[in-house]
Amino acid sequence: MNCIFCKIVAGEIPCDKVYEDDKVVCFNDIAPQAPIHVLVVPKKHVANILELSDDKDMLNDISNGIKNVAKELGIDQSGFRTVINTGKDGGQTVDHLHFHILAGKVFGENFG
Ligand code: AMP
Ligand code: ZN
Repeated sequence: MNCIFCKIVAGEIPCDKVYEDDKVVCFNDIAPQAPIHVLVVPKKHVANILELSDDKDMLNDISNGIKNVAKELGIDQSGFRTVINTGKDGGQTVDHLHFHILAGKVFGENFG
């Protein structure tokens, strides 16, 4: 499968890693949209959030990754925004499920 995030998981493409365990890899986004912009990527390929329920443990694995990234970056107290894009209208450009963690600024109430 020609999936860029699977290639990052496999170590075939480098990434700027923030946190990794046996279930997720978390790395800085190549085109950051905030002072801190990290992607939390499950190591197992699922295309999007609609397929998340196919693996009953995956959401727990991802939330554990988010918690560890937040602690690692010291944003667990100040907070952050978490974004999941799905499909064409959702602005998803990489069809391997990932959670965006955005931080280092104060976000407004609107999503645009
Ligand atoms: P999305 O638009 O929600 O599918 O998010 C995909 C994200 O992956 C975008 O924010 C891209 O900047 C980011 N991205 C694409 N390729 C890479 C890469 N090789 N390393 C890090 N981030 C990437
Ligand atoms: Zn993949």
